[in-house]
Amino acid sequence: MTLLELRDVAVAYRGAAGDVPAVRGVSLDLAAGEALGLAGESGSGKSSLAMALLRLLPRSARVTGEILLDGEDVLRMSWGRLRAVRWASASVVFQGAQHALNPVRRIGDQIAEPLLVHGLATPAQARRRTAELLEQVGLPAWRARSHPHELSGGQRQRVMIAMALACSPKLVVADEPTTALDVMVQAQVLALIRSLIAEHRISLIMISHDLSVLASTCDRLAVMYAGRVVESGPAREVFTGARHPYARALAEAFPTVGDPASRRAPRGLGGDPPDPARLPPGCAFHPRCPAALPSCAERDVGPRPVAAGWSAACVHAGPEAADTGEAGQAGESGGTGAVRENA
Ligand code: ADP
Ligand code: MG
Repeated sequence: MTLLELRDVAVAYRGAAGDVPAVRGVSLDLAAGEALGLAGESGSGKSSLAMALLRLLPRSARVTGEILLDGEDVLRMSWGRLRAVRWASASVVFQGAQHALNPVRRIGDQIAEPLLVHGLATPAQARRRTAELLEQVGLPAWRARSHPHELSGGQRQRVMIAMALACSPKLVVADEPTTALDVMVQAQVLALIRSLIAEHRISLIMISHDLSVLASTCDRLAVMYAGRVVESGPAREVFTGARHPYARALAEAFPTVGDPASRRAPRGLGGDPPDPARLPPGCAFHPRCPAALPSCAERDVGPRPVAAGWSAACVHAGPEAADTGEAGQAGESGGTGAVRENA
């Protein structure tokens, strides 16, 4: 059963010099209980897309397309309906969320808040549920009485996860939930998120610049570049056999978990991601692409099927190219040295 359906979702920020397209026509499905990893360098539009799902973007952002959560379009919900859906049906763990805790309120009161605000529990029930949630995220129940400064960064991030789970949502969106944490704690928190969502059959969208982390945590992967999904498919297949040259570079980068340098430049890729206000024509990746053809500067071919549930937006992608290993040798190349196999 499909829980979340994105149809041609676009996000543009109004700026002095016109609209800046941050997300450009993303279509994705998420089944109930499925974990989708969303990857891409900084600035590729991951957070804009994630925030759009619950309409958490600033007023300067315009969101178009359809975002169907359990068949209901989030973009057409009333504010009242949207408030009910947030936390209760879908919740977000933000990047650096541990800093969002209120420093002067006890942890337990903050975890209980969404339950009480949504009328899902009496104060006594909320206290019991808070103790249960703390235990689920590996913290002792007495931590409910602590204030945020008494906890480590990893413990605070566990509290944020407990809050996200409090109302038993169907969907959790985790936007770089571990980026601010040290390496050991990152691994623990990721394993925790994975086991909790599997246990409770929650759907997960996990965002990271690190494809290796996502491949080990998620069922499917979607790789974004310049606001588009350039490849999506089964996690292991995409990680080991990506068809889009950008997805392949990201997979080969194997960035060290927690290494800030790996956020910007996947190994083997020169240059920087484009400024969304000045996107190159054709395929936005062509100026950095080791396998670009002259036609790539003129035409973005859009998603092409690779196999069932797997597509890549590349002129070289397709079942034939994959089977015969012809990628990069297409006749259109005109024999220029710019074309080579990116193995
Ligand atoms: P990611 O999460 O992949 O790093 P973002 O969604 O944060 O990407 O950003 C995508 C693009 O949108 C970037 O170019 C960024 O500068 C722009 N952007 C993000 N938030 C805003 C905002 N509030 N106002 C204007 N531009 C924004
Ligand atoms: Mg982001």
